[in-house]
Amino acid sequence: MAEHGTVFFMYHELGLPNRAPCHPEPGYTRYVVSASDFREHMEDLAHQGWRATNVTQAMQSLNKESIPGKSIDGKSVCLTFDDGCETDLICAAPILQEFGFNATFYITIGFLGKPGYLSEPQVRSLSKLGFEIGCHSITHPYLTDVDDLLLRDETAGAKDRLEQMTGASVEHFSCPGGRWDRRVIAAVKAAGFRTMATSRTGLNFAVTDPFRLTRVAVLSGTGVEVFRRECRGQGLLRTQIKEKLRETAKYVLGSSKYDYLRSLILGREESARPLH
Ligand SMILES: [Zn+2]
Repeated sequence: MAEHGTVFFMYHELGLPNRAPCHPEPGYTRYVVSASDFREHMEDLAHQGWRATNVTQAMQSLNKESIPGKSIDGKSVCLTFDDGCETDLICAAPILQEFGFNATFYITIGFLGKPGYLSEPQVRSLSKLGFEIGCHSITHPYLTDVDDLLLRDETAGAKDRLEQMTGASVEHFSCPGGRWDRRVIAAVKAAGFRTMATSRTGLNFAVTDPFRLTRVAVLSGTGVEVFRRECRGQGLLRTQIKEKLRETAKYVLGSSKYDYLRSLILGREESARPLH
């Protein structure tokens, strides 16, 4: 907990020596945290007596403990992984188990079995190990751009398929590319999910709308010092201001012009299907 709130970290693929990332583009690899950095993050949490939880556990402790104005004795962060990369199982899971931590893995069904991503049996393994399986849509589109029928499939349809795959209830959703609006929230609610994680930066409190959960993206090269500050919710303001500027630019320019400019800056083609 930090400042009466909880940080939900957003990881993606972990980087292993001699293993190419799922995508080579800089817009993707900036989210690939090395396995050794991830281990250091977890070690640091453990050394400080902090706990790492999945989304269900984090929501329970938020509702119990995080009443504004009330002091909190628990020290915990929530860990989430987007996209369903194979490193979730072969790299993150054993490290988490070593420290007795949990996490929520948001799976993109359409990526399953592709090079670098989990297979269906591997998703079941993650679930059997006691980790939480969340949903990250079927085809990873910008949900704000799809029609109602497709939106239902990417939310309710994805939930059904993951539940059939794991035999467990799938209650948490994260939006591909961090794009969402009121219509997306309504669809996620109607599908029966209990929370929706966005890519907006911030802390989550007992009063936070569970369908607008904020997260803190862990980027490539994030050292222990930065990670430790972020666990306490420190240093997030700079990122929040940058995000506001980006949102304003998107609003003024329109989504496609914004994506085009971003692709020029990052030096790659931006497709309609976000990579993370
Ligand atoms: Zn994603």
